[in-house]
Amino acid sequence: MRASLDEVYRTGVARTDGDVRCGLPGLFDLTYEPRRAADGTVIGIWVTGVETARLCRLGGSAGCTEPAEVKVADSWGDSAWGCPAHVEDAILNVRTVFIASEELGGLAAYLNR
Ligand SMILES: [Zn+2]
Repeated sequence: MRASLDEVYRTGVARTDGDVRCGLPGLFDLTYEPRRAADGTVIGIWVTGVETARLCRLGGSAGCTEPAEVKVADSWGDSAWGCPAHVEDAILNVRTVFIASEELGGLAAYLNR
């Protein structure tokens, strides 16, 4: 969340982060929109959160109505929740995908040591 705020302050371009945990139960899409002074300077950021349905997002154009149970990610920072069948398919067919698990820790803990 902090990195997204910094980016919007720096670039002045709105952004949305999907499937974010923000201290409440569930996952949220958080949208960061710059608020500007009369001269265009970014003076604040309006953040809105929308709870996302916990459905598989790995079904492609056909979609998938199965519950999302596992989060996968890649080394570029893209991530999505999926049903076990689509997660397995993604792991087998996309070389850089891995299961994103909070239990495994992550770079944030290392950076904040
Ligand atoms: Zn699925």
